[in-house]
Amino acid sequence: MEDEIKKYLVYDGRVSVAIARTTKMIEEYRKEQDLTPTITAVMGRFLTMAGLMGHTDMKGDDTSITLQMNGNGPAGNIVAVVKKVKDLAYVKGYCANTKIELPLKSNGKIDVSGAVGRDGFLNVLYETGGKQGYKGVIPIVSGEIAEDFTNYFATSQQTPNVVALGVLVNKDGVVASGGYKIELMPDATNEDITKLEEAVKNAPSISSLIEQKKSLNEIVEIITGDSNSMVLAKDLRIEYKCDCSKEKFFQGLKTLGKKELDDIFEKQNELEVVCHFCGKKYYYSKEELIKLKESK
Ligand SMILES: [Zn+2]
Repeated sequence: MEDEIKKYLVYDGRVSVAIARTTKMIEEYRKEQDLTPTITAVMGRFLTMAGLMGHTDMKGDDTSITLQMNGNGPAGNIVAVVKKVKDLAYVKGYCANTKIELPLKSNGKIDVSGAVGRDGFLNVLYETGGKQGYKGVIPIVSGEIAEDFTNYFATSQQTPNVVALGVLVNKDGVVASGGYKIELMPDATNEDITKLEEAVKNAPSISSLIEQKKSLNEIVEIITGDSNSMVLAKDLRIEYKCDCSKEKFFQGLKTLGKKELDDIFEKQNELEVVCHFCGKKYYYSKEELIKLKESK
């Protein structure tokens, strides 16, 4: 099944839901970055959250959201960035230690919070037109990622919500990956909340629903208990793509003075710059740097 995101209204418009299937995107990311199963689960959840937020928390096209978590666990700093162009949200990610692997928990699940850690902060930064906008900083509550975002939306945005994220990985790669965000509108009733809580509690995990090849329309019914959902937006897409380029990295090198350039090229013939998101390498010769600087 192809990756997709859909947005719904349920409970006669008093509750909104966004659901994403991200299996292909996370498998592509896992392969490219050669991730262990533990880190695949960590980054799969994190990138799925970024993709969901790209379609639920972003207004215009020229905007981006950067998510960053560091819970002092063995995975170290993790970062996800989402940008949106029309119906396509594209995400990229970074994890400081992509090679760590932890034993499974006693319930057979991957130890995501053990990898992320619980001692630190979740940062959410919104940018528009390259200018910094709202920045939210909250302490990590569980390190399981979904709970941390539920807490973020509840405290920073005062929105009662449920976030679920899940990735199933076996020895061959990602079997299922996805997530959802349920948001209560101000007119949601106590009865709605009780019914919704019950449905969420009884629903299988999002990764097993995706593994069972349920459509997003079926999933929305299972997780909300409402069979009269209304599709608000469909054919929304989410892709893994790094937007780095030789030209972009040059912006960071522009500030190097003649003396620094002389120092660098005294020892080597070219300067190597590595993108810490995708690992792509770019090379600059001294002549190239001087020419680039002069052309600005
Ligand atoms: Zn890159």
